[in-house]
Amino acid sequence: MEVHGILLMIAKDDNTPLSPGSTWDYAPAPETMPVNLRKQYELFINGQFVAPASGKYFASINPATGKKLTRIAHGTEADINAAVKSARRAYEKVWKPMPPSERGKYLFRIARMIQEKSRELAILESMDGGKPIRESRDFDLPLVAAHFFYYAGWADKLSYAFPGRNPVPLGVAGQIIPWNFPLLMAAWKIASALACGNTVVLKPAETTSVTAMHLAEIFQEAGLPPGVVNIVTGPGETGAALAGHRGIDKIAFTGSTGVGKGIARQLAGTGKKLTLELGGKAANIVFDDAPIEQAVEGVIKGIYFNQGHVCCAGSRLLLQESIHDEVVSRLKRRIETLRVGDPLDKNTDIGAINSREQLGRITELIGSGIEEGAELHQSRCALPEGGYWCRPSFFTGVTSSHRIAREEIFGPVLSIMTFRTPAEAVERANNTCYGLSAGIWTDKGSKIFKIASQLKAGVIWANTFNQFDPTSPFGGYKESGFGREGGLHGLMPYVSLE
Ligand code: NAP
Ligand code: MG
Repeated sequence: MEVHGILLMIAKDDNTPLSPGSTWDYAPAPETMPVNLRKQYELFINGQFVAPASGKYFASINPATGKKLTRIAHGTEADINAAVKSARRAYEKVWKPMPPSERGKYLFRIARMIQEKSRELAILESMDGGKPIRESRDFDLPLVAAHFFYYAGWADKLSYAFPGRNPVPLGVAGQIIPWNFPLLMAAWKIASALACGNTVVLKPAETTSVTAMHLAEIFQEAGLPPGVVNIVTGPGETGAALAGHRGIDKIAFTGSTGVGKGIARQLAGTGKKLTLELGGKAANIVFDDAPIEQAVEGVIKGIYFNQGHVCCAGSRLLLQESIHDEVVSRLKRRIETLRVGDPLDKNTDIGAINSREQLGRITELIGSGIEEGAELHQSRCALPEGGYWCRPSFFTGVTSSHRIAREEIFGPVLSIMTFRTPAEAVERANNTCYGLSAGIWTDKGSKIFKIASQLKAGVIWANTFNQFDPTSPFGGYKESGFGREGGLHGLMPYVSLE
C-alpha cells in the first residue's frame, strides 16, 4: 500500500500493520568511500606479488550484480611449491630464531594496520562476498583486528599457556579457508600460527580472494619478513596441492565436511598434524519459559545473519510445543521486516548469496523441503534484479527425516520442529551427524547448565546466538571436525609440547 509515496509494509497473515518503527522503507544509504580495488590480483610469495606460473587468471564475481569484479591469479602446484619453499626458508632462517617478543610486535603492528584500513577492507569484503556492510564493518573487521591483537599478546607468553612444558613451533602450516568469513577465517588461522612461531601458506576460497590479497599488502607494509606468510589463490585443486605437499607440517582446513574428509584421507599416515573445522546443523532450542521476544530476535540473528552462510548458524529451531504457534506467527511478521538488498547499503539486513552455485544448492534444498511435505514460509520482499538472492525463509511441519532437517543448507532457511520435554529437546538436538554449535533459550539458569552438559556441540550459546570473541575457543564434535581455533586452545594445534 502506498501512503504519500512511502511504502507501508503489511504483515503476511492477518494484514495487521507492523509496529510503527518498522513500517517505513528507508531511503538508500550506500557506503560511499572509494576503495582501491585492483583490476587484477597476483599471488603473494616470499614477500612479493608475483604472477602465477600458469599465467592464468579467473574472474571474481560481485554476487550482488552477477558481474565480474576483478581477476584473481590461478595458482597451481608450481606456485604452491614456491610458496612452501619460501615459507620453509623463512621459518628456519628468520621466524623460528626470532625472539618471541619481536614476533609479537609484528602481530601488534598488523592488528593496528587492519584497524586503520578496516573501512576499506569491509567494503571490499561486502563487494566480493555479498555480506551486508553493517556486518563486515561492525562484526568481521573488528574481530579480525581483535584476533591479531589477542594472539600478538600470546607470542611471548607461550610458556604460561603450557606451564611446565616447552612449546615448540611445528614449522610450515598450510591453511585452507572458505568464503563465508574470508578475512576472519584468515585471521583465525594466520594469527595463531604466527604467534606460535610457524610460517604459513594460505589458500583462500575461489569466490572471495580479494581481501586476503589486501591483507597481504598489509603484511608487506608492516615489514613482515618475506616468506612468513604466503598466499596462493586458486580453485580446489590448488588447495589439494597444498594439503598433499610433502613440505608442510600441519594443515588447518575450514570448509565442507566432504572436502574435510578427503583431506583427512589424504593426510592419513603422513604424520602431518591436522585440524578440521567443518559443517554444522545447529539446534536452537527455545523453552516455554524463555523471554519470547528476545528469543525470536536471537533466532532471526542465528539463521539470517550473513545470509545463513554460517557453519554454526541456528538452522534447526526446536520449539517447546506450547509456544510453537506464537513463535511462528512472530517469525512470520519479523521476516517481512528484514531488508534484502544491496550489501553496500547500511540498511541492508540480508545481502547477496555468495555465488550462483550456492544459490543453486539452497534452492534445491528448499525444493526438497516442499517435496517432502514441509510448509514453506517466505518473506514477500522484492528482490533486486541481477545477482544472487534468497528471501528469508522458514519451514514448519518439518520431521527429523526431512533433508532440510539433516543437511546443511548454508542459506537463510530455517527448519522448525517441536519437542515436549527437555529430554526430547536434547535427543532431537543431538540427532545429527554434526556437532558444531547450539543455542538454549530459557529463564532458568539451572536448565541452561543441565541441557548444555548434555548437548554434543562445540559452542553453546545461552539466551543469545552467534557471539564471538578471540579469547573463546571454537570448533566441533563428530562430523563438524576436530581441533579448536581461538583462545588458548587455538594455540595447541600450532605447537608440539616437549
Ligand atoms: P569447501 O568447498 O569445502 O571449500 C573450502 C576451501 O577448500 C576452499 O578454499 C576451497 O577452494 C578448498 N577446496 C575445495 N576442494 C578442495 C580439495 N579437494 N582439497 C583442498 N582444498 C579444497 O567449502 P565451502 O563451500 O567453501 O564453504 C562452506 C562450508 O564450510 C560449509 O560446509 C561450512 O559449514 C563450512 N565452514 C565451517 C566453518 C567452521 O569453523 N567449522 C567455518 C566456515 C565454514 P575453492 O573455493 O576454490 O573451492
Ligand atoms: Mg566474489
